[in-house]
Amino acid sequence: MGMKCIGVDVRGTSVKMGIFETTGELLDKWEVKTRKEENGKYILPDVAASIREKVSAMGLDLKTDIAGAGLGVPGPVMPDGSVEVCVNLGWKNVNPQKELSALLDGIPVKSGNDANVAALGEMWQGGGKGYDNLVMITLGTGVGGGVILDQKIVAGRHGLAGEIGHIHVRDEEKEYCNCGGQGCLEQICSATGIAREARRKMAASETASVLRQYGDNVSAKNVLDAAKEGDELALEVMAVVSHYLGLALSQAALIADPDIFVIGGGVSKAGQFLIDMVQKDYDHFMTISKNKARLGLATLGNDAGIYGAARLILQ
Ligand code: ZN
Repeated sequence: MGMKCIGVDVRGTSVKMGIFETTGELLDKWEVKTRKEENGKYILPDVAASIREKVSAMGLDLKTDIAGAGLGVPGPVMPDGSVEVCVNLGWKNVNPQKELSALLDGIPVKSGNDANVAALGEMWQGGGKGYDNLVMITLGTGVGGGVILDQKIVAGRHGLAGEIGHIHVRDEEKEYCNCGGQGCLEQICSATGIAREARRKMAASETASVLRQYGDNVSAKNVLDAAKEGDELALEVMAVVSHYLGLALSQAALIADPDIFVIGGGVSKAGQFLIDMVQKDYDHFMTISKNKARLGLATLGNDAGIYGAARLILQ
């Protein structure tokens, strides 16, 4: 029986965990509630207790069968694994990898920012499998990202590497992004951004559209579904989204030059339809060479975090 490794993805409402073969096969996954009270002091003890329970239920020994555990944290993580502030969990000046290791009889524990860790997961067993260099873009409520070069997370000197959602792309934007900026990619290409773009287009024209039945409650999914059916206004919205996403990807390609961009998050459920649209704009901005990063879809969904966290321990 080979060694196993454990991936822990700490989120605001639940902690997802998975136990893997070191070859990448997921053996079991489960989750516990994230207890955020008292500055999140129960989170790591809960995780440790749950891991102990699972390991023993599988007839395994923590010290001899488990190579280690990786930890994805929803906030910035310093190179030594410490977390200055994690508003989502209430943590202040903690070193979760040190603490979790101590709670698990000293087995190795490594931690990383959750978006970067998810990118590592997609590289290991997801849409970027087989590639060493990958940039992941997650189109969800916001737009997140992660950079992997030579199979390693590039967090950057200030933890800003991969913050693709806050690349400034639109000068005309008057509304403010969560980061304080105006015209960030996230304001257009997140699910929230796509819905806002649809509301703006509906208000600015008389074009008939199936989207009008939803009014101000129109969602990104409504837009993508309608665009796939050929709805003119929905296609106009997606042309804007695709334009700016293609622009940001071309800029990222000229800085990081990965093998592949892996696009994930709820919006990516639009699948190849989305990739085909973005490909045209990306190609338009990337005339410098035909040899450039390809575009692909993430495949691990919500499990990317546990895969990537487990993979942290193997490098
Ligand atoms: Zn921003």
